[in-house]
Amino acid sequence: MKKYMISVLFLSLFFTGCGEKKDAPVTKQTIDVAALLKQDPSIEPVVVIGGGIAGLTAANYLLQANVPCLVLGGPKPGGALAQSDSVRNWPGIFDAPGVAITDSLKDQAERNGAQIEAKSLISIDTKQQPFVLTVQDESGRQETIKTLSCIIAMGTTPNYLGIPGEQEYWGYGVSNCAVCDGALFKNEIVAVVGGGDSAMVEASYLASIAKHVFVLVRGDGPRASDKRKVKQVKALPNVTFMYNTVVSAIRGDGKVITHLELADTKSETAKQNLDIDGLFLAIGSTPNTKIFTDQIKCDATGYLSLVKGQETSIEGIFAAGDICDPFVKQAVTASSMGCQAALQAKEYLDKIGYSAAAAGLSQAIVERSLVDVEKLRSEKMPASAQALVLTIDSLEAAKTLIKECRNRLLVVDIYDKYCIPCQKMAPIFASCAQDYVSKVTFAKLNVSDKSIDVGQFTRLVGSSEEITQVPTFLFIRKGKVVLRKSESMTKEALAALIESTKAK
Ligand code: NDP
Repeated sequence: MKKYMISVLFLSLFFTGCGEKKDAPVTKQTIDVAALLKQDPSIEPVVVIGGGIAGLTAANYLLQANVPCLVLGGPKPGGALAQSDSVRNWPGIFDAPGVAITDSLKDQAERNGAQIEAKSLISIDTKQQPFVLTVQDESGRQETIKTLSCIIAMGTTPNYLGIPGEQEYWGYGVSNCAVCDGALFKNEIVAVVGGGDSAMVEASYLASIAKHVFVLVRGDGPRASDKRKVKQVKALPNVTFMYNTVVSAIRGDGKVITHLELADTKSETAKQNLDIDGLFLAIGSTPNTKIFTDQIKCDATGYLSLVKGQETSIEGIFAAGDICDPFVKQAVTASSMGCQAALQAKEYLDKIGYSAAAAGLSQAIVERSLVDVEKLRSEKMPASAQALVLTIDSLEAAKTLIKECRNRLLVVDIYDKYCIPCQKMAPIFASCAQDYVSKVTFAKLNVSDKSIDVGQFTRLVGSSEEITQVPTFLFIRKGKVVLRKSESMTKEALAALIESTKAK
């Protein structure tokens, strides 16, 4: 039977070494951030590279500190934890699929205003400030992003055996992700290679699907740190551990894998072949540091070296999670490193003057950002869509609009010109206006606009509840608020809310 699997082999990602042999962060020349931002308003204060636990936690902390944050999540945000079907050591949760944890962090980051893009880092230039990142989207389109600082949270890539048959049968019986491919082996015989925590997780998952699971450990026993899990897996009736055993070749019939050639690590002799239908590798991983070769210091095993807290050998560049953690590699430690990296990045931005500039302590910056924010709102949406979103700039205008929308839904985006999530919602809102043209009226009201009091407006539409958060969306039918949402959302979610008000 032909097995079509969804995981991908990244043999080309083997570590090649990196390193700048310096022990203190390389201090950048003093930079005039205000001048830089004035010259190029697209410069990001911080880019988080990686959408796993470490990156998402960093994003949440940055946004709570009011630092706008772009997250390059790669094609599969969620990171390594998303591969685990059962996580039992995340604080406060007895047992949850990894993806539930990463999804909740992603949702939290998005609600806080994070811009999470499915882009991957291709190269980085740390020799100039701002740093220049070259990134690539899923279609292969490349662009450069300039940033004052960044947090590298790119994790590790699973290792491969490098034995005959591995590449030939990859996706045809060989995999490194039981959650992705395990279902293909219902009532069949599979083997897991490795004796670490990942191997235990994979074996336990596969045991609930496959007829039998062999766990092939090259040492005298499993070295997984979760001893309770080891005990649990060993107790399963359809799991057999084989120690001092390595796979020397993966054999098949040209289409799918049929058996493994095994060897004894103690006697260095061949063992009897093992007939199997599927093989799952759980043999550790290699840090994704190849890109940083010759720019950022790494340790002898290729993990990013930390110089001061989470700061790397380059001032303004921080690291978090498995990419700088050769030993522990736990979700909770990745999260904690993400937090520390974010706080240090904020401290760095304060030091170089970004935060002062952004907070408006410099009048010149305030004036520039006022112009730019409005410009950004208009640049990000086509003029045709923009024109569909009406502006409520007086109580009289509001009254007229409500009257005109007696027989149709009116959706009002209550925003503030300084609010980053509001800026991000603006093009989504305009795009929805285009989709619902002639069916729904879309309008925006700026809470900073002195010509209209937002409280007066909400009372006008029958709501006594104050607006305490932006963006807030009011869905108004027959002059009354029928639904209110105070959060950023996707276009699909906004459309779903519009649809949901039809019955009201
Ligand atoms: P590990 O590096 O911990 O374990 C790798 C295993 O694969 C070891 O048993 C190793 O053997 C074996 N191995 C390596 N290369 C080969 C090879 N060529 N042939 C045969 N066997 C090989 O990796 P994991 O992915 O298991 O774990 C990484 C980290 O993530 C750990 O710190 C772990 O605790 C953590 N983790 C935590 C989880 C949790 O739920 N809490 C889940 C998964 C991982 P040997 O011992 O001989 O070197």
